[in-house]
Order: sequence, then structure tokens, then C-alpha cells
Amino acid sequence: MESRERENETDRVVSRKAKRRRRQKTRPIAVIVLIAVAAAIVVCVLVLGSVSKDMSQKENFPNAPENNDASSLTDGEDDADEVVMPPDGDAEVDVNTVDGKPYYYDSAREDRYIAFATNHPEIAGDDVYWMVDCDLDTLPYEDTHELPDPDDILLMVNKHFYLPEGFAPVDLVNVGNTTMRAEAGEAMQEMIDAAAAEGLNIWSQSGYRSYGVQVNLYRDYSARDGEAAADTYSARPGYSEHQTGLTTDLNTITDAFGDTPEGQWVAANCWQYGYIVRYTKENTDVTLYKPEPWHMRYIGRDAAETMHDEGILSLEEYWVKYVLYQPPGVG
Ligand SMILES: [Zn+2]
Repeated sequence: MESRERENETDRVVSRKAKRRRRQKTRPIAVIVLIAVAAAIVVCVLVLGSVSKDMSQKENFPNAPENNDASSLTDGEDDADEVVMPPDGDAEVDVNTVDGKPYYYDSAREDRYIAFATNHPEIAGDDVYWMVDCDLDTLPYEDTHELPDPDDILLMVNKHFYLPEGFAPVDLVNVGNTTMRAEAGEAMQEMIDAAAAEGLNIWSQSGYRSYGVQVNLYRDYSARDGEAAADTYSARPGYSEHQTGLTTDLNTITDAFGDTPEGQWVAANCWQYGYIVRYTKENTDVTLYKPEPWHMRYIGRDAAETMHDEGILSLEEYWVKYVLYQPPGVG
């Protein structure tokens, strides 16, 4: 009995000592853990602070070109070679001004840039600017503008910019059995001859179209297919490039034309004669027309060469970057 009590007493003492030892061991560990937690909290606060600062800058323009950020991330070995290139590898000149905005940025459109970038996260930063500059953030046939100089070789006719109803070019010449403006017609004939020298048969089958002809065409198409469908392949009156006299359709109006030797030759070589294939699969989102490998638009040799060399895929982009605005140091 007594010995059991002593045993119990001994057990209690042993267990008290063991507890004390454990407490002595755990106390420094607890202190270390507390310090670590405190340090972690401080680090978190600092990191979150800098991230939220960064976020608030981005909120001003979510898809803003990040050239400034990118250059600060380079290793500084040779910044001239560290220019961030577009994904397609175009050798684009640095279009950004000192404040990181391209020369075709207009602060009056700031809200529209932000809204467009927010609604189209897939569109790259610089593209947002020129697309908004030519009203691609508004619906087709809304917010439209009559072109002030319909004789301008570089004019842009699309679903936002239209020709005056009474406009007809005064210098039409025959190309094959169609007509085009003189400068465009001569260049087209040169292209036809150059293709013929390579054994290819290209002909111009539908050049200038008057406003009145387009009225009938569009009315017939929309009666047959509905307005929405007709809008994907036919222009409304005043909105057709054919009214400019700078456009013609080649050979056959079929998708298959693009796969023929003639269609492929034209796509590859037309720029040398001042022409572009106006509607391609690469620019459908911009032109809002299905690809038309047969539809040629004359813009002059200099402009066509620039588009070719710069990898500019639509007249809309060229028009903003070289007509509505000019690159720094030009003109
Ligand atoms: Zn056409």
C-alpha cells in the first residue's frame, strides 16, 4: 500500500519533471515560430503593397504595352537587342514615345482604349490603340464618317467610313472589260503583264461600280440572304471600295481562287504593283469581311511596300499608322 503510494508519488514527480522539460524545450521553438510568422506577415504586406500598386497602374490601361516593364527586366547587356518583338516576329520599329504610348495614342480616347482592351483581352496592347483610332470599338455602320477626300489614293472605305453618294471618279480607264482610275488601271495592267510573262492568266473582271449599281447589288443580296448575311460579303451603298475606282475583282469570285497559281502569285507579288489583297483570313476581325482573295485594292507602291515590309495586315492598321498619324521623324 505504502510502496504503491510512493510509486504514485514518484510517477507524479517524474511526470511533472518531464512536463517542465517539455515546456523548456518547446518555449524557444514557440518563440522562433512566432518570429517567423511575424516576418512572413511583414513580407506579405510588402509584396501585396507593391502588387496592388502595379495593379492600380494597370487599371489605367489593362492592355497597355509593357515595353517599360520589359526593358526593366532585361539583363542590361545590350538593351538595343532586347526590344520586345511582336509574336509573329515582325521587325517593327519602336513606335512608342517616351511615355510608353505609341504616336497614334490620343488621350481623348483613353476611356475607349480601356473599355476595348477590357472587352478584348486577346488583343495585344498596341493593336488596341490603332483599332480604337479607326472606330473598331463601335459596331459596323454605327458612328460612321463620310470621307472628306474621296479622290485620295490612300482613302479607307469600310463599315465606318463611306463615300459621298454622288462621288464618281473622273479619270476612269479601261482594264480588260472593266474600268478603274488611271493610276490603278495602269498598275493593274503591269501586274497582269508580269503574271502573263510567268505563264499565269490574270484578268480584271469587276472594277469600278457606281453608287447606284451597289444599291441594287446590296438590295438583291439582302433580299436573298438577309441583311446580316449580306453584310459579311457585300458592302452597303457608299461603303463599297468598288465605288473608289481603285479596286477590282480578279478572275473568279470563289474561295478556290486563292489556291490557284494565279491567286497565290497575286497574294505574293501584288505589293510590287501597289496593290493589296484587301480582305484576308488574317484581317477578318478588322475588315469584318470574309476573305476575298480575288478583291484587289490599289494604294500605291510606297504604301503597299510599307505594308509588305512592316507586316501590316490590314489597310485599317496602315491608315491609322501612316495616314491619320505619321511615325515620328516622317513628313
Ligand atoms: Zn470586290
